[in-house]
Amino acid sequence: MTDHENLCPCCSKKKYEICCKPFHEGALPENALLLMRSRYSAYVLNIPDYIVATTHPASPEYSDNKFNWKRSLSKFSRSSTFHKLEILDFKENNNLATVTFTVYLSQDNHDATFTERSYFEKIKGRWLYRGGQLAAGHAPNLVTNGQLRLLPLAYYGDSILRKKADPVAEITNDIRKLVEEMIETMDASDGIGLAAVQIHHSIRLFVIRTPIETGEDKFEPGEIEVFINPILSLPSKETWKASEGCLSIPSLRSLVERPKEITVEYTSLNGNVIKKRVSGWQARVIMHENDHLDGVLFTDRLDQEELLKSASFLQSLEKRMHDGRAL
Ligand SMILES: [Zn+2]
Ligand SMILES: [Zn+2]
Repeated sequence: MTDHENLCPCCSKKKYEICCKPFHEGALPENALLLMRSRYSAYVLNIPDYIVATTHPASPEYSDNKFNWKRSLSKFSRSSTFHKLEILDFKENNNLATVTFTVYLSQDNHDATFTERSYFEKIKGRWLYRGGQLAAGHAPNLVTNGQLRLLPLAYYGDSILRKKADPVAEITNDIRKLVEEMIETMDASDGIGLAAVQIHHSIRLFVIRTPIETGEDKFEPGEIEVFINPILSLPSKETWKASEGCLSIPSLRSLVERPKEITVEYTSLNGNVIKKRVSGWQARVIMHENDHLDGVLFTDRLDQEELLKSASFLQSLEKRMHDGRAL
């Protein structure tokens, strides 16, 4: 083998033996950038076990069917020709990090270059890949300005999700900062709503992106709304069922029955007390988030049939969150 062949596929210009190989053999990368590079070289070298072992249990890519998961990872590796990895940005903040990078590759002689802003979270001392936003080609616009403002999510099984949250006593600068971070965290995870308890703050506050209804059972995320110390009243007798998900219960969607309309009274971020009647998806999102303030999850509201469908998933999710790793 020539020196050239010994170079690590992660484009570090270092030899594989002293670059990504130790990680592939079990050493823990001390930061998310090293993890990202070693995951890239695992794709190049077709080491699906490493990808699986370094995927966050809450990642949308996570699968309980390890056999099929590894098989499709391996298929991707074998069908791709990797040309180059280019790191555009790396931000780290306590237990969260983002790495934005462009991968130049081709599949079946077609260019398949993409840019990803990846999110990483450190659980029990190990950095894990949690997900990412993708764009085709070289897309430096995925790099965000300023500091990293993501907050770690609390997942199913975390006791904070079961506590009744305390009222917000005063809208301080800390609260305003928290709201900004919550919005960034919600958007980064493609969520439509996020309650403070889901980012480990047991206070009565949630943010939503007011759903814009685009048809039967469909909506798009709209404007940001902040609800402080909300009180719900006068639910309509008429109810409807629709499929809900939750950032704290990744990958599960179930049919939940809720009132069609409800009245919500709350304080806005600039201190105004607002009372309004809401309906449809807006009402549903507000009720879902408000439930979080009382320690209630949407899985508590399932009928017998829906509960049966999700029971084994919930059990497995709780276990893998507890174990903190995929394998
Ligand atoms: Zn390397
Ligand atoms: Zn939720």
